Amino acid sequence: MLNKSTTKTPMPEQEPALRARNFEEVAFGYTQAQAKREAERCLRCKNKPCVSGCPVGVDIPSFVGSLAEGDTAAAADVIRRANALPAVCGRVCPQETQCEQFCVRGRNGEPVAIGRLERYTADWAMEYGEDESPTDPNGVRVAVVGSGPAGLTCAGALARLGCAVTVFEAFHKPGGVLVYGIPEFRLPKAIVAREIAQLEARGVAIETNCVVGRTVTVDELLTEGYRAVFVGSGAGLPTFMGIPGENLNGVYSANEFLTRVNLMRAFEKGAQTPIQPVRRVAVVGGGNVAMDAARCALRLGAELVSIVYRRGEQEMPARAEEIHHAREEGIAFHLLVNPVSLVGDEQGWVREIVCVEMELSEPDESGRRRPVPKEGSRVTLPVDAVVMAIGSSPNPLIRQTTPDLAANRWGCLVADETTGRTAKRGVYAGGDAVTGAATVILAMGAGQAAARAIYEDVTSGRI
Ligand SMILES: Cc1cc2nc3c(=O)[nH]c(=O)nc-3n(C[C@H](O)[C@H](O)[C@H](O)COP(=O)(O)OP(=O)(O)OC[C@H]3O[C@@H](n4cnc5c(N)ncnc54)[C@H](O)[C@@H]3O)c2cc1C
Repeated sequence: MLNKSTTKTPMPEQEPALRARNFEEVAFGYTQAQAKREAERCLRCKNKPCVSGCPVGVDIPSFVGSLAEGDTAAAADVIRRANALPAVCGRVCPQETQCEQFCVRGRNGEPVAIGRLERYTADWAMEYGEDESPTDPNGVRVAVVGSGPAGLTCAGALARLGCAVTVFEAFHKPGGVLVYGIPEFRLPKAIVAREIAQLEARGVAIETNCVVGRTVTVDELLTEGYRAVFVGSGAGLPTFMGIPGENLNGVYSANEFLTRVNLMRAFEKGAQTPIQPVRRVAVVGGGNVAMDAARCALRLGAELVSIVYRRGEQEMPARAEEIHHAREEGIAFHLLVNPVSLVGDEQGWVREIVCVEMELSEPDESGRRRPVPKEGSRVTLPVDAVVMAIGSSPNPLIRQTTPDLAANRWGCLVADETTGRTAKRGVYAGGDAVTGAATVILAMGAGQAAARAIYEDVTSGRI
């Protein structure tokens, strides 16, 4: 029966005042009855416009249709065929600009809550579904550099085709940004670990503490018998503003701050890599990374956490839901201001952030209105810590140690968009390492496309 509601079935979540002081997941997810009710909003369009918005091509009307019929196992099967990390995507994908953007129900009200339904199905499958067993081996060995969404997707797809895949990861835990960047309260690490365990059950081997370019080079992997190497090493090199005072104590890159909190669990008692207790924190930037850093600072006990952003709220690149959640939790927003210097005390700790007011002029190459400083303006905020969340780029190690791998002027590896092929025979690349900082699902799409190309090149004798 069609559910004619023009709004999404609400998803229960923790109260803002409560969740602002704990690291537990904000949203609780749907019950089976809520999922069925929401799935009944789907029109099951024949031309499936939503699928064109999904970079990994999940057959959305088919899985949502199964949920509407109360068959969660069938829904889980449909998703698993295309998406190796559905519980992750159901939580962090920007669905509003992907699948849900094309949903016909969105023309007259809210689109079907495809992301929430994916999350419900994936969580159900984790509890009740069976792990996939390994495919018969085809004798082809492939190396994957980096265990983020790009690398894991590429590895999972190749393992399903019978390749022996080893993922080499620099950190001591696999998952990439999913474990070191995105906080526990948006994406519980146990969920990521469970999805990775499912890939291991499929036959994917993961070697942690291995820095490709130091422990072993890409060329060495190729001579050691790997027929292909997929580079999915992400964009983990932080950007700073280059303003006076950035080297003061208490100034962090978002990468360092979030890695300490998420991967090194700085919020737990006795953490080996703690964060100094702070009262007033300013986070510079307006993307998801800035929202995550601000909300982590609040949960670590800060009294006043401010977002400092040089444009207005309309221009913020963060997901609307993340901005809304941050506001609800009490994060202060200082918009249209830009830091020009940081001032410290005699012990070298940051104490003040000095900004100028900005106004917006014509749109720039990003399509957003260009911020320009207002002559003679000055805004100062007292702070104990500053987190710079203004972007990141690929770490140069792999391109420096693989001389025939080309990079563009932003340090991103050059690879074909639809196949991941680089100019170097046997080497493929995708995800943030190629595009610069982007999204989980785009990285997964690139990993999936590269897996297809690698298999095609191996079976046709091209490599
Ligand atoms: C704080 C934060 C919040 C975000 N929130 C969202 C969100 O809500 N939704 C969304 O869609 N996207 C979000 N993103 C972006 C998204 O996480 C990334 O686009 C995505 O993770 C990129 O995947 P990847 O596999 O290319 O790289 P990564 O996830 O960065 O993984 C790369 C891996 O390679 C490893 N590595 C690097 N160099 C080497 C080497 N030399 N040898 C071995 N291993 C190496 C790294 O340690 C890392 O584990 C967020 C990003 C951040 C930082």
